[in-house]
Amino acid sequence: MNQSRQYNVGVLGATGTVGQRFIALLAEHPFFTLHALGASARSAGKPYAKAVAWKQTRPIPAAARELVVHECDPEHFKDCAVVFSGLDADVAGEIEQRFRLAELAVFSNAKNYRRDPLVPLIVPLVNTAHFAVLPQQQRLHDPPLSKGFIVTNANCSTTAVVIPLAALERAFGPIESCMVTTLQAISGAGYPGVPSLDIIDNVVPYIAGEEEKIEWETLKILGGLAEGDDGRTAFDMHAGTPLRVSASCTRVPVVEGHTECVAVRFARRPPPSPQQVREALQAYTSEAYAIGCPSAPRHTVFVHEEPDRPQPRLDRDYQAGAGVSVGRVRQCRVLDVKFVVLANNVAIGAATSSIINAEYAVLKGIVGA
Ligand code: NAP
Repeated sequence: MNQSRQYNVGVLGATGTVGQRFIALLAEHPFFTLHALGASARSAGKPYAKAVAWKQTRPIPAAARELVVHECDPEHFKDCAVVFSGLDADVAGEIEQRFRLAELAVFSNAKNYRRDPLVPLIVPLVNTAHFAVLPQQQRLHDPPLSKGFIVTNANCSTTAVVIPLAALERAFGPIESCMVTTLQAISGAGYPGVPSLDIIDNVVPYIAGEEEKIEWETLKILGGLAEGDDGRTAFDMHAGTPLRVSASCTRVPVVEGHTECVAVRFARRPPPSPQQVREALQAYTSEAYAIGCPSAPRHTVFVHEEPDRPQPRLDRDYQAGAGVSVGRVRQCRVLDVKFVVLANNVAIGAATSSIINAEYAVLKGIVGA
């Protein structure tokens, strides 16, 4: 799909860990133009370069340096076709609602609306079909909306596991059970995150709320859409073949890139072999890539044959952080097959997902029509 028009975009939480990744990616985007930035009162009124404690390896892009950071008031964003949110969850709920009410299209990384029955939770390499609920979100909003909506993307640790699960369900039908143990990077907690004295030379076997997020979000993302008795569309939460997900989450001394050890049991008997699983993962493609979203990776999943990959330091930038890396695909003596997946938590786990979702919305005429 050809896209020649330019669209102004805004970033809320522009000074944070996810916000900085948004700035770095959007400064080079083929059809999004950085137009407005928002953060807290601590940052408001300053040029971006003065407001931010920049932690990216590349310099602050010229397109953002002199943009003045505003408080998160929709008035400053009214010329934006798309608003990305990397806001802290403590404030995202109220601020994103104000932006939606102001008829702005909000693409959020925060957890606040992920469980809302009218808000799609979209990992763009998996379930773009869920964009179909947006007209209902607008119609049932009080007051009804014509352009404003909220789309969320998943928690970073959910994103890592749900992409290979989607690939396997597409090839082999429903998965019945999934056990996942995460080794999550410290950047997943934002800046400054976990104190160095707690994380260096250590593993922290608890991340508040994280296991519940993986176990619940996976069902919403992998489930389909169902027509309710009242004629409304609802997320079916993988109801047809119930999927049980059990997650154990740990924080490890890695800066970027979540590693997750996954074991699955398929509904289908006999289950696919490890080699069939490898081939299905490698062959998986997304609709987002097929329709031409520029940030969607051509190869969604890279399957390593080496026994000691994927590793965060070596593999987190696969496809500019937009793809995921899988390795160690082998038989599981308890479930059917097990493997290790690595995903960049701030790229496909956060900002890149939001950006692909917005690209998809533009290319499908959902925004900017
Ligand atoms: P972060 O580094 O702590 O950044 C938080 C941002 O929110 C900053 O820009 C901050 O602005 C802004 N903010 C805080 N209080 C505010 C207020 N009262 N009004 C307006 N803005 C305010 O957090 P993060 O890691 O980037 O995470 C951002 C969101 O993305 C969170 O909801 C998180 O759960 C989610 N997420 C994070 C990751 C990840 O890997 N880090 C992955 C997926 C999802 P100031 O600089 O002005 O304080």
